[in-house]
Amino acid sequence: MTLQNVLPWIQRAHQEGWAVGAFNANTLEQVQAIVMAAQVEQAPAIIQISHRALTHVGSGNEVQGIKYIAALGKIAAESVAAPVAMHLDHGTESEVVQAIVLGFTSVMFDGDGLPFEENISITKRLCDMAHSVGVCMEAEVGEVPKPDGKEFDESAIDMTDPDEALQFAQATGIDTLAVALGSVHGLKSKTVSLDLERLQAIRKQMSIPLVLHGSSGVSDADIKQGVSMGLSKVNVATQLAQAFTGAVREVLNKDASLVDPRKYMSAGRNAQMEIVRERMRFFGSSGKAK
Ligand SMILES: [Zn+2]
Repeated sequence: MTLQNVLPWIQRAHQEGWAVGAFNANTLEQVQAIVMAAQVEQAPAIIQISHRALTHVGSGNEVQGIKYIAALGKIAAESVAAPVAMHLDHGTESEVVQAIVLGFTSVMFDGDGLPFEENISITKRLCDMAHSVGVCMEAEVGEVPKPDGKEFDESAIDMTDPDEALQFAQATGIDTLAVALGSVHGLKSKTVSLDLERLQAIRKQMSIPLVLHGSSGVSDADIKQGVSMGLSKVNVATQLAQAFTGAVREVLNKDASLVDPRKYMSAGRNAQMEIVRERMRFFGSSGKAK
């Protein structure tokens, strides 16, 4: 299939109490693992590309990175019969515009650090642009921290305020809202609980589908509960990287004379496909594309 607008799938998931998985990719093999999993599980899926993935793929040049990934995502989606979307995660204003022009079907603008009113005005402008060409628009109120291995203060997380969330969603027209409920980007084990009372309060204010970032660090019990309460897109990155890299490391550790990249990259690809499949079953998206 061609790349799909994921919003109808997220809305259906929202109504039926499951979630669409958004899976991060930084390499060709990771993109392939996601669409192969979507095909086998007959699940809608989102190939998710971060700002830093663009830099990596473009060898330091983000514009080149978006062009590479846009072409790659189209071919990957067309290689399977399951519905696949391609999402730019935590984009800057100019990256969001470029992604829309180059055929991404979903974008997130990260207005982290901007004054609230300015965040609203930029998000609204990008949202109007996205909607004019059938692209799904996500934005964030509050902030899921990105500590990148550094120390951070959990008690200082800028959690999503339900009133601000409502004001922001109404003023911008966004399709989905990323919420900060205590999760953290990049955690390597499932040690965090979600503030489900806050999620409940946000839910009371608004009905648009919500997005969980940083799911790799959140207990599965809380993810399950959160999905049933309206977290209808769940982002997964670190868990995938762990599976991919773990498999590569195992192959290389077993054979110090191995030099053929196909041998270890295919092991990584298979391992990532298996964890994506496991997450699809866990989120309840398996079989939904039948
Ligand atoms: Zn994120």
